Amino acid sequence: MKHVEYLIVGAGVSGLSFANFVPRSANWLCLERQKEPGGYCRTVKQDGFVWDMSGHFFHFRHPRIEQYLVHRMNADEVATIRKSSSILYKGRRIEFPFQKNIHQLPLDEFLECLYDLYFRPHNMEVNTFLDMLYARLGQGIVEKFLRPYNEKLYACSLSSLDKEAMGRFFPHADIADIIRNMRFPDAASYNATFTYPRGGAIEYIRALLKDIDDVRIHYDESLESIDTSASIAYTSKQAIRYEHVVSSMPWNRLLEVCHVPHDSSLYTYNKVLVFNLGFDKKGQETDHWIYIPEPHFCFYRVGFYDNIFATERMSLYVEIGLKADVFVDVSVWLPRVLHDLQVAGITQDHQLLSYHWAVLDPAYVHINNHSQHDFWEKRAILEQQGVYSIGRYGGWTYCSIEDNIVEASQLAHRLSGLKSDVFVGEPVASQ
Ligand SMILES: Cc1cc2nc3c(=O)[nH]c(=O)nc-3n(C[C@H](O)[C@H](O)[C@H](O)COP(=O)(O)OP(=O)(O)OC[C@H]3O[C@@H](n4cnc5c(N)ncnc54)[C@H](O)[C@@H]3O)c2cc1C
Repeated sequence: MKHVEYLIVGAGVSGLSFANFVPRSANWLCLERQKEPGGYCRTVKQDGFVWDMSGHFFHFRHPRIEQYLVHRMNADEVATIRKSSSILYKGRRIEFPFQKNIHQLPLDEFLECLYDLYFRPHNMEVNTFLDMLYARLGQGIVEKFLRPYNEKLYACSLSSLDKEAMGRFFPHADIADIIRNMRFPDAASYNATFTYPRGGAIEYIRALLKDIDDVRIHYDESLESIDTSASIAYTSKQAIRYEHVVSSMPWNRLLEVCHVPHDSSLYTYNKVLVFNLGFDKKGQETDHWIYIPEPHFCFYRVGFYDNIFATERMSLYVEIGLKADVFVDVSVWLPRVLHDLQVAGITQDHQLLSYHWAVLDPAYVHINNHSQHDFWEKRAILEQQGVYSIGRYGGWTYCSIEDNIVEASQLAHRLSGLKSDVFVGEPVASQ
């Protein structure tokens, strides 16, 4: 039977980052159930269009991570872009984030939001994400944008989410920020600029693969079961004895693979149906992406690849948030998406030349106190048995690609007994 020091599960950003940062002498093997690497950072090239599994843009907080990746890429092919995004609200455009740009609303709605912001309920008990929104921003802002938009995205009631469900990704603004922004607009946000390679998100994956011996990655081979007491993993092709498992597969599925008794109803999530659409000519849109809160449009966000590299034909991604158990019939969704794009004014007499679709399942996990408590308890137990769960879905969290790289590098250093960390940074995942 094969024996490895590290059995890595998943050749996405997290698994490949771990493989990059363990010492070169380490004996590791990576299982990837797909036929190719990348996970959610895969890219599709079709009929002259370059598409990701929905827009995957890179926001670096750690310059050393950016350097590490860009040194392994053709730097001329990576653009740094100042973000331009807006909200489609009742046929007009409001800059994002909504709460800092209420002065761009019609006067009566602006006054309503301002009044509700000032007289928002003080001292209310804040237990959920929805409570947090009302307590911080008042009814007008919440009901015009934050609630409908986030309910479309998460496909659940915001009362079922923890007040910190979005961690640092929620654009907080207090009353002073909001009023200051009316006179002196400030574009600060976690993604005010982003980088993006001409070849799509897969270029970052290629950078992580550059120094790795590809034969150590077993494609089309999935982890199916782990006997933690014997330290043996059973894959779709063989049994492997391991010292450590480092898994980036979704946490709820890892619990099943490891035969850990658990309440599966604690771990809820949505899925996102993504359409990538290539048209015959440019549209009028200049933003990189737009947010769409109104429920009569089926999508919550539309992004424009052609506005990143100023290409000549409109190239879109469209994201639709769905409950996890919904059956996805693309033949029903595609005409609806095309119709809604017309109604939104994004397409006019455009001809669709090419399309691709994907379902991200899971996409946004529903973070609440119960799931977090159970996660931390069971993760500690699995770690004692040599099984480590990392990544966005392994960590059952909301985080970015960069967070995945930081977390994987920290674990690689911890397990290999190295004192220093390549990327010493803040904690990686919201707990
Ligand atoms: C709609 C959407 C938009 C996003 N946009 C951005 C963005 O713009 N910028 C950003 O920084 N982040 C973005 N993210 C987050 C980003 O996608 C993730 O942080 C990142 O891709 C997670 O990488 P990972 O390696 O942890 O997981 P994954 O990419 O999910 O990789 C896990 C891998 O494990 C494999 N696997 C699963 N089960 C098994 C098994 N049993 N055996 C073997 N292999 C298995 C999978 O096939 C997969 O390749 C977005 C996420 C979503 C949902």
